[in-house]
Amino acid sequence: MLIAGNWKMFKGPHEARTFATQIRHLPERATGTEIVLCPPYVALQATVQGLGEGSDVRVYAQNVHWELDGAFTGEISAPMLAELGVKGAIVGHSERRQLFGETDETVGRRAEAALEAGIAVIACVGETEGEREAEQTEAVLRRQVEALPRHERLVIAYEPVWAIGTGQTATPDMAQEAHAFIKSLHPTRVLYGGSVKPENARVLLAQPDIDGALVGGASLDAVSFEAICLAGAEPVVG
Ligand code: PEP
Repeated sequence: MLIAGNWKMFKGPHEARTFATQIRHLPERATGTEIVLCPPYVALQATVQGLGEGSDVRVYAQNVHWELDGAFTGEISAPMLAELGVKGAIVGHSERRQLFGETDETVGRRAEAALEAGIAVIACVGETEGEREAEQTEAVLRRQVEALPRHERLVIAYEPVWAIGTGQTATPDMAQEAHAFIKSLHPTRVLYGGSVKPENARVLLAQPDIDGALVGGASLDAVSFEAICLAGAEPVVG
C-alpha cells in the first residue's frame, strides 16, 4: 500500500517542518504502508529535514521538468530534487493538465526524465465529468496511460477529475473498474485519488486493484492523514 499526501500550494517551510516532525514515526505503526509527502517546492528541504535521517516517510515533489538544466524559468529538474533528498515526483496532476497546459506528451517527458535521474514517479490520469458522461472514460484513460513509460519506479494515480477537491468520491466499484482497466494497459501499482478521507479510505483501499491513495485536502491535517495511512495498513496480528 502507498499513501501519498499532495499538499498542492499549501504549507510553507515552517508548517511543513512541523508536520514532518509530527508524523516521522508513523511508518512504524502503519505496517506495510509506504508513506509519501508532496510539499510545494519551497518546503521540500524543510520537510526532508523535519523527517530526519531515520524516518521511512519519503518526500516527493509535485512536478519535475524534463531537462537537466537550461533556460526554463520557474522549472525544477530531477537532479536538483535528488540533491535535496527528494525521492520522487508527481507528474500530470489534473490541475497541471487543466490550468497549466500540461499534455500527455509533456507528462510522458517529465516521467521519463525523473526515472532517468533515479527518482520515482506518481503519474496521474483521469477523466473529466463530461468525458465520463460521454462514455469516453476508457478512451481517455487509454490515451493518458499509453503516453507513460513502463518502469518499476512508476506508479499511476487514477484521479477522476470530477472527484478532486469536490467531496464527490468515485464509488469503490467505479474506482475498482477503472483500476482494473488501467492495469490491463500498464502493469503497475495504481493509487486512487479524489476526495479520499478517513471515513471512506478503508472501503476504497479494500478493493483488489486499489494499491494506495493520492490524498489532497485530507493530507493537510496530520490527524486525518495519519488515519488514512492507518486505514491502509495491515491489521496487527495477536
Ligand atoms: C489530489 O490533489 O490529488 C486530490 C485527490 O485532492 P482531494 O483529495 O482534495 O480530492
